[in-house]
Amino acid sequence: MLISVLLSIISNISILITASYIFVKLIPNKKVYTLSVKQQLLMIGVASLTSLLLMLLAVDLPKGAIIDLRQIILVLLVYYIGPKVAIPTAILISVIRLSLGFHSASIRTAIMYIVLGFLLPVVCKKLVKKINNKYVVLLILNAICVAATAMISYVLYDSFLVYISIYSSFLVLSSLVGILATLFIEDLLKSRSLYLDEKEQAKMDFLTGLYNKRAFTNKWQRIEVDETIATTALMLIDIDYFKGINDSYGHANGDFVLRQLATILKVGAADNELVYRVGGEEFCLILNDLSYAAQKNIAETIRFRVAHKEFLLENGTSIQLTVSIGLAASDQVKDMKKLYRLADQCLYMAKNQGRNKVMGEILDNE
Ligand code: GH3
Ligand code: MG
Ligand code: MG
Repeated sequence: MLISVLLSIISNISILITASYIFVKLIPNKKVYTLSVKQQLLMIGVASLTSLLLMLLAVDLPKGAIIDLRQIILVLLVYYIGPKVAIPTAILISVIRLSLGFHSASIRTAIMYIVLGFLLPVVCKKLVKKINNKYVVLLILNAICVAATAMISYVLYDSFLVYISIYSSFLVLSSLVGILATLFIEDLLKSRSLYLDEKEQAKMDFLTGLYNKRAFTNKWQRIEVDETIATTALMLIDIDYFKGINDSYGHANGDFVLRQLATILKVGAADNELVYRVGGEEFCLILNDLSYAAQKNIAETIRFRVAHKEFLLENGTSIQLTVSIGLAASDQVKDMKKLYRLADQCLYMAKNQGRNKVMGEILDNE
């Protein structure tokens, strides 16, 4: 008897931890995410299947009642995912419980899970506002489930002592397992968040906060296959005589100037994601779905703003500088390699023609 109870408990814990791992894996690998309908259905499916397994490996009690850890699945879903997944899961848990045996104990449990499915999300929302500790919130939600199970099972027991010992042990055990599952989920989520941070950092230029050349290459590969983008253009921006600025005012001031230029470029771009630092003092802007006139206009505006800006130095004085811009626009074919080459040639022409100039061309597809 004791061995079979122990085996049930160990199986329940293993299934629960495995399910927690699957849940975290089902959450999209993004900082801010919303679950698609497909992902929600998948989660409900996994949760229900897990509950079925937990019920099959439950500890048997008198009069067909069973005790297992399926409420922890519900509590975790309520806390981490929300009612959209928790309520259908609670309903499915009830249906599964009834399909495993249709008698008074299972009917009471089925009704209880439907009530819990609707009640727990409301309680959770209130608790989260008041209590800052997720473990305490999860423990309270679990305690509500255990109390509900104990309440509907009261009629099964002749001895109050047996009743109290069973359900107090259940409360202690499920609380411990709940904490274990939460620790496990939190650890997985933390690793994921660190990974996402690192991934984001790898795309950024440390000095200016703009995206770097690696991000630029990734983006252009995506643009080439993106059929919603009909035309695109690349704008290469290079500071005129930047070496002289470094030589006259020092490298630190050169860096300071680069950061201020980055701010002007961000303002000029449609999206921060489309401005890149592709070299030491070379920047690139991607302009999607604009007319050639609009593209030239943006380039001219940037050139003008730079030429009229007072760039601050660390000693509080300011200097002026100019940029040369090469603009290459695609007509029909979005061949980014050819576009980059053309933008580079245009930039070279702008430098040759005296700098502080915009030179642009439309890519000839022949
Ligand atoms: P041009 O008008 O022909 O572009 O002349 P230039 O002096 O700007 O061009 P050049 O390519 O000769 O020099 C680029 C300089 O940019 C050389 C290098 O010291 C400087 N540079 C590159 N990266 C950085 C950086 O991260 N910080 C600073 N301060 N300077 C940098
Ligand atoms: Mg250069
Ligand atoms: Mg330069």
